[in-house]
Amino acid sequence: MVYASIIYFSVLVAILIGCIIVGKGTKTELASEITGLLVMAVVVVIAYWAFLLSGRERLGLLCLGIYDVGLYFLAAMMYRYTCMFTGYAPQVKYLNFFVWLAGIIDMVAMLLNVLGEYLFVISPVYREDGSFLTWKIQYSMPYYIHIICCYTIVIFSIMTLAKKIAGSPHIYRKKYMIMLCAYILIVFLRMFMYLFEWKYDWSILIIVFLGIVVSYFNNYSVPKKLLQNVLYSVSENTSSLIVCFDNYNKCTYVNEGARKLLGVEKDDLKAFEDKFVPYINICARKQVDYDITDEIFTVDGEEKTILIEYQSVIDDMNKYLGCFFKMEDRTEEIRRFELEKYKATHDSLTNIYNREAFFEVVEKGIKENPDTDYCLINTNIKEFKLVNDLFGSKTGDMILVKMAEELNTLCEGDKSVVARIYGDRFAVLIPADEFDEDKAVTGIRNVEQIMKACNYKLRIVLGVYVIADREESVQSMYDKACMAIERNKDEYINGIVYYDDSIMEKALHEKFVVSEFENAIENNEVEIYIQAQVNNEREVIGGEALVRWAHPEYGVLLPGQFIEELERTGLIYKLDMYVWELAAKKLYEWNRRGITDKYISVNISAKDFYYMDIYRAFTGLVRKYNINPHNLKLEITETVLMHDLEVHLDVLGRLRKFGFNIEIDDFGSGYSSLGMLKEIKADILKIDMIFLRETENKLRSRTILEAIISMTKQLGMRVVTEGVETEEQYEGLKKMGCDYYQGYLFSKPISVAEFEEKYLY
Ligand code: C2E
Ligand code: CA
Ligand code: CA
Repeated sequence: MVYASIIYFSVLVAILIGCIIVGKGTKTELASEITGLLVMAVVVVIAYWAFLLSGRERLGLLCLGIYDVGLYFLAAMMYRYTCMFTGYAPQVKYLNFFVWLAGIIDMVAMLLNVLGEYLFVISPVYREDGSFLTWKIQYSMPYYIHIICCYTIVIFSIMTLAKKIAGSPHIYRKKYMIMLCAYILIVFLRMFMYLFEWKYDWSILIIVFLGIVVSYFNNYSVPKKLLQNVLYSVSENTSSLIVCFDNYNKCTYVNEGARKLLGVEKDDLKAFEDKFVPYINICARKQVDYDITDEIFTVDGEEKTILIEYQSVIDDMNKYLGCFFKMEDRTEEIRRFELEKYKATHDSLTNIYNREAFFEVVEKGIKENPDTDYCLINTNIKEFKLVNDLFGSKTGDMILVKMAEELNTLCEGDKSVVARIYGDRFAVLIPADEFDEDKAVTGIRNVEQIMKACNYKLRIVLGVYVIADREESVQSMYDKACMAIERNKDEYINGIVYYDDSIMEKALHEKFVVSEFENAIENNEVEIYIQAQVNNEREVIGGEALVRWAHPEYGVLLPGQFIEELERTGLIYKLDMYVWELAAKKLYEWNRRGITDKYISVNISAKDFYYMDIYRAFTGLVRKYNINPHNLKLEITETVLMHDLEVHLDVLGRLRKFGFNIEIDDFGSGYSSLGMLKEIKADILKIDMIFLRETENKLRSRTILEAIISMTKQLGMRVVTEGVETEEQYEGLKKMGCDYYQGYLFSKPISVAEFEEKYLY
């Protein structure tokens, strides 16, 4: 009997201690609370056990007292735990004090009972053979105060639990329910014990059971169950689509999204196995734990791009447990991305590539087709701004759209690229053997046709660069195509101009001129040479100032090497002003030395009219150097008359009135020389040397020369012929009535000092 009880109680104590040990690892808020509770349960069980085995009355009273106080404290701690467990702790804080106070009083009362026996008395019950069986307990009235206290606390616990159960979601209700049942069972068992005077307190078993329940909930059940529920709910509601497989490749779980995606019935997991097991096998073969891939699914006839992530699941021992797939429907995202990409790479008006995309695609295209020769074409609509201003931007847009259309037609092959670079500039990359010039011209004409109805002559030009160096940047290729247009302003007939290397040389030379020219003036590298002019008596009567650039590195540069560049870049007026000033200064010097009958002719570029007030410039020089305007002759060419005729004629008229001699230069070299003669009231006509060079048509040239000279005379003008190289020419011209002569026969252009030395001093 004793042994049986030892085993019985040892098991109970061991269970409780086991719970304490297992609970140690858990780091929940309630862990310390539960440990205290379990320790108290151990105390209670041991006390009861000791009571049963005590044998001596006083010891039995003490053990029973400890047991009763233990029960009280256990109830109190259970109450505390219940409050915390259910989350009601803060609301009952003030109760704690009374509960613990009552506990202390109870403890004192129980201890005193050992001496006074006013709560209960115990008397031994013997077996028939006279051995001790157990104690018989007789309770006195004051003991019931202790009982009431205990039950009050237990009832509080029950109420707390009941309240919690009423307001809890289903999954939480179970854990409160079990505790509630345990409480109620304890109450009943103890009531039976008192009522039917059981020999043993069986409620102790329930206390141990309660200990196990509390530990279990705290450590395993609720957290795990909760986790499962949370995970389930997360996976059902996530935008990701989830499919899980076990280690036998059986589909174990599919969330709502995944089912919808494949259009599969709730319990038809086989469909998922058919779809995903091949993947699993591939990943297994590759021996990867994670994999990601894109796949196109057709759902309800609509193609969807799905991102599939594979993840294997392994246990602590690295054993494969199964796997899951996480999928995401990327269709919208990709569609949006494609749209954004399209917007970023295309021109919104014409729907062809924009500049950035063109450069990228061209670079790639050239690299990927090493055997294809390409042309890079640039287009320019002349005076497009004017079209916009005159006819409105809608018309402008219409032209641009048509232009894109025509270029697209021109480029039918898949190796061609068409783009709008900016404004009215389009660019094309096309294999050289596909570029059909006639087709291109037709395309241009079709666009130009749009404006026919408005009586406006639209002019479109294509600059073509046949790509020679595939390694150079696309930007540089494009620049070359542009350059072809810029540099050949007047050289295209059907609207197509080709780039060649001379264009680049010219461009580089221009760059050189522009960058060094202004310094050259400051450093006095620019000077004038004078070429003498003679009369019929071969006397030098003056000369033409011709500019020379004494470059420190390249030697003396002739006008042909920089005048055109300065004209193109608008810098020519600086040079001319400088030359005019040198000429005026020279005249002033000659005047001071008493030479007043020699003149200097200076050249005026047509561009000068746009960049300065020529009238003010010349009259200013006359005043500054106090010279006779008659001695500064002004040479102009017919290009002056090409634009703003009236304004220029007015300026020339005023200059003439002021006393300057106006000289028409290069007469006969241009197209409308006679027209010029009609418009300008000039003093001198300078016949171009072209008439003297014409060897084959000598007779015809002579006839024309004669006619020009006599006509000029009739207009009251004097005649200079330039480029006279032989005595024969000189004599012939003399007979025709020419007044003055300029040419190598008399003198080449020479430095001012040389001129002065030879002809003046
Ligand atoms: P241009 O005004 O017709 O000047 C006459 C050019 O013919 C000069 O060339 C001169 O050296 C050359 N020349 C003179 N006699 C003969 C000859 O018997 N045979 C041959 N073969 N050539 C002869 P240059 O000095 O090279 O000047 C070329 C052009 O540069 C000038 O043509 C003129 O249009 C322009 N230019 C020269 N200086 C200036 C200037 O200061 N300002 C502007 N705007 N243009 C200038
Ligand atoms: Ca001249
Ligand atoms: Ca000339």
